[in-house]
Amino acid sequence: MILVTGGAGFIGGHLAASFVSAGRDVVVLDNLDPFYDTDIKRRTIDVARQAADNGDGSYELVEGDVRDADLVADLVADAQFVFHQAAQAGVRTSVKNPRRVDDINVEGTLNVLDAARDSPTERVVFASSSSVYGKPSYLPYDEEHPTTPVSPYGVSKLAAESYVRVYGDLYDVPTVALRYFTVYGPRMRPNMAISNFVSRCMNDEPPVVYGDGSQTRDFTYIADIVRANAKLLETDAADGEVLNIGSTDNVDIRTLAEVIRDEIAPDLSIEHGERQAGDAEHTHADVSKAGDVLGYEPTEDIRSGVGEFIDWYRKNREWYEPLVRSS
Ligand code: NAD
Repeated sequence: MILVTGGAGFIGGHLAASFVSAGRDVVVLDNLDPFYDTDIKRRTIDVARQAADNGDGSYELVEGDVRDADLVADLVADAQFVFHQAAQAGVRTSVKNPRRVDDINVEGTLNVLDAARDSPTERVVFASSSSVYGKPSYLPYDEEHPTTPVSPYGVSKLAAESYVRVYGDLYDVPTVALRYFTVYGPRMRPNMAISNFVSRCMNDEPPVVYGDGSQTRDFTYIADIVRANAKLLETDAADGEVLNIGSTDNVDIRTLAEVIRDEIAPDLSIEHGERQAGDAEHTHADVSKAGDVLGYEPTEDIRSGVGEFIDWYRKNREWYEPLVRSS
C-alpha cells in the first residue's frame, strides 16, 4: 500500500490518482483542512476514486490529522511507501500564523518519521520546498546552496527536511526529500498567482503583479512533479538525498502574466500592486542532481504548462473560478 498524506490536496491528489491509475493500492490521510475551500478537495478525491473505479488500483480516504501520532503510526505500519505531502502550505499564511505552520509541518513530519522507524516502510518521500533556500548567494540553486529561509513556512520546511535527513542517518529510515519549485496545474490552490492571473484575464480585468514583477520563479508543471515522485517507487538510488525538482525554464512574474494575458485577452494591460512580505525575490532550480540520481528531466515549459492549465480552467470554470475570486 502507498500512503499519501495530504492526498486530498493539489499535489497529493495528483500523486494519489496517478498511483491508483498505475494499479497501486493507495490510502490518503488528509484532514480536509478548510484553509482553502474543501469543495476542491472533494473533487480531487473524486478524481482518484474515479481512477480506482476505472482500473486495477484501489483508493481509500482516511479523514484525520497528521498530528495524530497513533493514527499515523497505524497507517504507516501498513505502508510500503509514504509520500508525505500534508502541510500548511503557503508563505503568506505562515507570515500570519507561524506557530500553526510549525505545528503541522514539523510535528506532522516527526509523526511520520517516528512511525516509519518502527515499520518496514521502504521509503518516506518528503515534499520539501525551494523556500528553504531564501536569499540566493548564487543562482540557479544547487542542493549545496546555503539554506536561509525568509518566511516561517520556509523555516518549517527546512526543520522538517532536517529531521528527514537525520532519521535517515540515525535510524536507517530510507528517506528522500524533494524540493519542489512553485508547482501549478489543475486543481491548484486557488490563491496562487497563476489562477489569479487566469481568472482576471478571463473576466477582462488586467492581471495585477505584486511589486515590479521582476521576481523570477521556476514554475513547475504538476505532471513533472508526479513523474519525479513516481520514479521513487522503482529505485533506491535517491535514498538519503535531497533533490531539487524544478522546471525547464525560469521566468519572471511579469512574463508569466504576459504569457497568460496573451493566451486569453491580448488587449489587456498588466497592472502592479504592492509587494508581499515573505516573498522570495528569485528562485531558480539546478535540477542536474535529480537528473543524475533519478533520471528526472522536466518536460513542460511555461507556455505548454500554462496552456494546459487554461484548457482545464475553461472546462472547470463554473466551480473553480468562484474559489479563485474569493481567495
Ligand atoms: P495543498 O494545501 O493543496 O495540500 C496540502 C494537503 O494537506 C491539503 O489537502 C490539506 O487538507 C492537508 N493537510 C493540511 N494540514 C493537515 C493535517 N494537519 N493533517 C492532515 N492533512 C493536512 O498544498 P500542495 O500545493 O498540494 O502542497 C503539497 C506539499 O508540497 C506541501 O507539503 C507543500 O509544502 C509542498 N510544496 C508545494 C509547493 C507548491 O508550489 N504547491 C511548492 C513547494 C512545496
